[in-house]
Amino acid sequence: MVKHVYTFGAGEAEGKADMKNLLGGKGANLAEMNLIGVPVPPGFTITTEVCTMYNEQGQQATFDLIKPEVEAAVALVEKLTGTKFGDKENPCLVSVRSGARASMPGMMDTVLNLGMNEDAVEGISKKSGNSRFAWDSYRRFVQMYGDVVMEMKPASKEEIDPFEEIIEQLKEEKGIQLDTQFTTEDLQELVRRFKAAVKKVTGKDFPTDPWEQLWGSVAAVFNSWNNDRAILYRRLEQIPGEWGTAVNVQAMVFGNMGENSGTGVAFTRDAATGEDIFNGEYLINAQGEDVVAGIRTPQEITIEGSKRWAVLQGVSEEDRTSKYPSLEEAMPEMYRQLNETQQKLEDHYSDMQDLEFTIQEGKLWLLQTRNGKRTGAAMVNIAIDMLEEGRIDEKTALNRIDAAKLDELLHPVFDTAAMKTATVLAKGLPASPGAATGQVVFFADEANKYPESVLVRVETSPEDLEGMHIAKGILTARGGMTSHAAVVARGMGKCCVSGAGAVKINYKTRVMTIDGVEFQQGDWISLNGTTGEVYKGKVATMDPEMSGNFAKIMDLAAKYTRMAVRTNADSPADAQVARDFGAQGIGLCRTEHMFFEGERIKAMREMILAKTEVERRKALDKLLPYQREDFEGILEAMAGYGVTIRLLDPPLHEFVPHEEANQKEMADEMGISVEAVKALVEDLHEFNPMLGHRGCRLGNTYPEITEMQARAIIEAAVNLTQKGVDARPEIMVPLIGTVKEFKLQADIINTTAEKVFAEKGARCDYMVGTMIEIPRAAMTADLVAEHAEFFSFGTNDLTQMTFGYSRDDAGKFLPIYIEKGILKNDPFQVLDQEGVGQIVKIGVEKGRSTKPDLKVGICGEHGGEPSSVKFCNSVGMNYVSCSPYRVPIARVAAAQANIG
Ligand code: PEP
Ligand code: MG
Repeated sequence: MVKHVYTFGAGEAEGKADMKNLLGGKGANLAEMNLIGVPVPPGFTITTEVCTMYNEQGQQATFDLIKPEVEAAVALVEKLTGTKFGDKENPCLVSVRSGARASMPGMMDTVLNLGMNEDAVEGISKKSGNSRFAWDSYRRFVQMYGDVVMEMKPASKEEIDPFEEIIEQLKEEKGIQLDTQFTTEDLQELVRRFKAAVKKVTGKDFPTDPWEQLWGSVAAVFNSWNNDRAILYRRLEQIPGEWGTAVNVQAMVFGNMGENSGTGVAFTRDAATGEDIFNGEYLINAQGEDVVAGIRTPQEITIEGSKRWAVLQGVSEEDRTSKYPSLEEAMPEMYRQLNETQQKLEDHYSDMQDLEFTIQEGKLWLLQTRNGKRTGAAMVNIAIDMLEEGRIDEKTALNRIDAAKLDELLHPVFDTAAMKTATVLAKGLPASPGAATGQVVFFADEANKYPESVLVRVETSPEDLEGMHIAKGILTARGGMTSHAAVVARGMGKCCVSGAGAVKINYKTRVMTIDGVEFQQGDWISLNGTTGEVYKGKVATMDPEMSGNFAKIMDLAAKYTRMAVRTNADSPADAQVARDFGAQGIGLCRTEHMFFEGERIKAMREMILAKTEVERRKALDKLLPYQREDFEGILEAMAGYGVTIRLLDPPLHEFVPHEEANQKEMADEMGISVEAVKALVEDLHEFNPMLGHRGCRLGNTYPEITEMQARAIIEAAVNLTQKGVDARPEIMVPLIGTVKEFKLQADIINTTAEKVFAEKGARCDYMVGTMIEIPRAAMTADLVAEHAEFFSFGTNDLTQMTFGYSRDDAGKFLPIYIEKGILKNDPFQVLDQEGVGQIVKIGVEKGRSTKPDLKVGICGEHGGEPSSVKFCNSVGMNYVSCSPYRVPIARVAAAQANIG
């Protein structure tokens, strides 16, 4: 029989850590913590398979099937805790939380204090001897269940939550400011008003039966797998929709039972920098949501962290110790146990842990542990530190790197000099490092209003995810280092300053006020996520410095890789950047980019205008020296490595102006009439230029173009060779579909090379190969390989032609296709291994069937995308080639592919 429910508690568990696929990350780790002797409240996990069943077969059929197992599991929780659902004396209260395979912080729903009703509240009141606490728990439950299960939401984004509105109203009636000032009677009144509001809005009575509450909550968690923000988060993080979420039901423990209770979130190392310091935040007499939601100012766990926080916030030492003491100071014994537990968990998992804990009347409970989300810098530092501490081996360290996240380390930082003169408006917590400059927006769905925006919020909620993704940076007035904004921003590698208390926000007027100075929507500000400073206006940036650990990761990549990583570069400067990142050669130099500057475009246009071969050659003669000079520069920058130079590829219409004003300019420059220019443009017009007169079709119709380019390359290489530079040109023919197309071009190149050698009385090494970017070329690769010395897969065109999607027009429908699940990813970014990849595989195999040691690489955009790089390794390519700033990413992905 298939098992749907896994129980845990009192040091025993039916699951364990490696069952994440079935139990979700949270469920698997709750089980594991039981097994290693960490105190965890008892509970059970409903599997991710049930979620899939729920989505496919519906609620009724699913719940009927799992009911006996759930009932048995609840009975176990009741037994272990000595409680009963809905009992007047000893009620059982549980939490219901989501938990997917990959962590999706805050994206799905949670219900706490489930089991509360008029009887249970009496029971809790008696048991705790604290009726205020009992009623506070009850009103929180009604609020949460009303929101999550009964969908009591604010009417619009400018409105506040309907329950918060009731709270505010009662505070006004009672003349009080804080929730903590409510009396038991006030809380009873709140419960009454909340329930009345639920009835009014939804037409339904608030459920009093704990079983009804439980099934309602389980359904809500399953439903939340498909809420908008969860779908968006999965898209951003590339988490498949089929995975589903597990549901964790667990006995409640209360951090809000008085001054010897509390709750918090902690990291075993610093999630922003990777430093090995235990850190985190807690609140005395509070429930978990209070810490992450940023409603109260959370306090630091350690004395050291607390002191640092006080300096940042400008809080005196006296105020700190009296108003915001660390856990270490406020509850030394609890701190000692927590510190011991965090070390135990990190030792056990050999990775930085992010944990949630609750202290109930002097007893510590762990509610969650997971591998903590971290910035790119922390990721690199933690991997190397753990390697050097002997906790993990080299391959594990390398596999700890999320290659795409290295991108964060390559982003600009604020210029040191500019920072000194910038006006500091406010200081918050350095929640996620980096530099961000942008125009202020107050709502997540308006983040795309400006090309560069900074999202300013009192606090963020999971609904803000998309806006956080679009904005350059995030500034919040409330919330600590573990607030939603901070955690999500670090996960995204997005600059974030949180808890900047001086920032006052009026959503209605869209105005932010800092120390009396007003900032409207659209005003520019800058955020320093590394120091927590908020600056006025724009602050200049500079390139980042790489840490020593970054180089160590790159060394590991070099040690374990089989494939080389080259770069796509058209200038010596780009080639140098890539080389500094460890590129071993150029995989694609697009020569057309060299035709646009100054005098060159004029000569190019003369060539296009030419009516005869003689005229064309005259114009090409003018281009030759420019080209030769460019090639010398680029071959020299990559001396010692292969440099693949591609012959002219784009359709000629790209070199003539299409705007009236520019056509006039061209006419004046060339000494011809505007009509003549217009006629030329008309003549070059094609219905499908990407499928038209381009690639080797140009070289085969105007062989003199190929001749000129081959001459420029060979002359450059000979000149360099004579200077002692190790120049290694590889001349590449684009867009071939038949072997004859290639052969004719190769003949021109070889004949030209021989001519140059004879003229110069000197030779150089060179290769002639081809792009494989038309399906026909891949299918006939065995024939092509008889003549070509290397292949480079142009997966941009190959994707275009395999799918039949125009590279230029796919933007109109691809996002919709991805939303509807027709495609998982944009195939122009992530190689479609199932289709395009198979053509690549056939091309490699056929090519090598003719020439076993044929050199094969990729130069489409996919060459810098980790999953595509891994595929390239699997089909036996010699190298991948990508833009300079993606070289480190591709190097790590290539090494990971090799170590598996
Ligand atoms: C390709 O088609 O993948 C390629 C690299 O060439 P381009 O993008 O210049 O067409
Ligand atoms: Mg191409």
